[in-house]
Amino acid sequence: MSSFNAESTAFRAALDVIHAVEPGVADAIAAELADQRASLKLIASENYASPAVLLAMGNWLSDKYAEGTIGRRFYAGCRNVDTVEALAATHARELFGAPHAYAQPHSGIDANLVAYWAILADRVEAPALKRAQARQVNDLTEKDWFELRRELGNQRMLGMSLDAGGHLTHGFRPNISGKMFDQRSYGTDPTTGLIDYDALRETAREFKPLVLVAGYSAYPRKINFRIMREIADAVGATFMVDMAHFAGLVAGKVFTGDFNPIPHAHIVTTTTHKSLRGPRGGMVLCQPELADQVDRGCPMVLGGPLPHIMAAKAVALAEARHPDFQDYAQRIVDNAQALAEGLVRRGVTLVTGGTDNHLALIDVHGFGLTGRQAEQALLESGIVTNRNSIPQDPNGAWYTSGIRIGTPALTTRGLGLEQMDEIADLIHTVLSQTRPGTSADGTPSKAQYVLDPAVSDRVSKQATEMLAVFPLYPTVDLD
Ligand code: PLP
Repeated sequence: MSSFNAESTAFRAALDVIHAVEPGVADAIAAELADQRASLKLIASENYASPAVLLAMGNWLSDKYAEGTIGRRFYAGCRNVDTVEALAATHARELFGAPHAYAQPHSGIDANLVAYWAILADRVEAPALKRAQARQVNDLTEKDWFELRRELGNQRMLGMSLDAGGHLTHGFRPNISGKMFDQRSYGTDPTTGLIDYDALRETAREFKPLVLVAGYSAYPRKINFRIMREIADAVGATFMVDMAHFAGLVAGKVFTGDFNPIPHAHIVTTTTHKSLRGPRGGMVLCQPELADQVDRGCPMVLGGPLPHIMAAKAVALAEARHPDFQDYAQRIVDNAQALAEGLVRRGVTLVTGGTDNHLALIDVHGFGLTGRQAEQALLESGIVTNRNSIPQDPNGAWYTSGIRIGTPALTTRGLGLEQMDEIADLIHTVLSQTRPGTSADGTPSKAQYVLDPAVSDRVSKQATEMLAVFPLYPTVDLD
């Protein structure tokens, strides 16, 4: 049970206690709440966790070491950690309809590493690896280690390219995933911006990956996981889906049937803090045959579990099982579509022309800007977004030509269709009034921009007035 008084009292008391030791930290925490309240947050990967989720993270569970997993701990005295880990896993299994859930990964990247190691351990016929799994690591000879590295290093991964919207950990060369695996990327159709399943099928047939990865950080459309699984099956690949971005839409039953990865993938990874609205963290969901390897995530891949974060995951997953969450998930998509339509109506170019998930990708070429210039001009006007590569981006991954926007956070705050149209207008105003700037030596710059302060002030003021109607954490009063 929560009430205005309980939540305000809890946060005020916590800040008082912290303030007595290090006022700088207490002040920064309070300032962060003020900043979040004041900003129009369109970062597609962020959200606002509930007071219950936030409070579940700050307590004594944090003090406990619990390497291993339930029933197989390397430390004594883990009964309360077992309780929260089991609660998180049970909620996750039931919410997503997954046979097995592993709630320990500290982040989305960690969840992907756990999954990759589990797949390798399950699929690769390396005698040295089998011995390592049998915990006879000390018996491995130099030759065994050489063989292990060679066998693991020869495995192939096919994942979505970074500029098409994939994540670094889906086999991007400089990332550990692109070094662990012999990697190849699939992109999107240059005309439609959509995944071309026929082209992907051909690439898979030719490349024969051990792992086919689906999922994205910046692809504004649904993915047909049934077709992806058929492609994986045709070449004997393990099919992994990273649903870090859209887990909330799966939990909220907006993505069902072919668009729900759980029944189609061998293994699914996620973060818990984006559309799922939980604490920072990750999770792995998998079919029974991979469960044992996944449960070895700690200590094979991960450091000791974070029991306080698993507690907060359990709270967030309990919240996501509430019927209200389905309404929330649907509103995320309705809002994203309204925002996208508002932008397109004003002549803004979107990658794929729109969205059917929680995010949209603005192509800022038409405004003569780089993503970086656009991002900074929007920020100066009180609109928080992030620059992002677009397919075949001529400006590379640093300056980029895109702006990614998403609606999970503003939907939590209560903003609806009417506000989305107003926000589309604000974004269009800023982008159309910003001009590229020059460097100190007078040469064209990809970072500098020129925007009349009167415009940024007006947009900022309008954004503040809009947000005032939708208070963030209305039950929390720190004054
Ligand atoms: N996977 C995808 C698809 C993501 O978008 C992200 C984060 O942006 C991650 C994994 C990594 O998550 P984390 O930052 O929690 O490691």
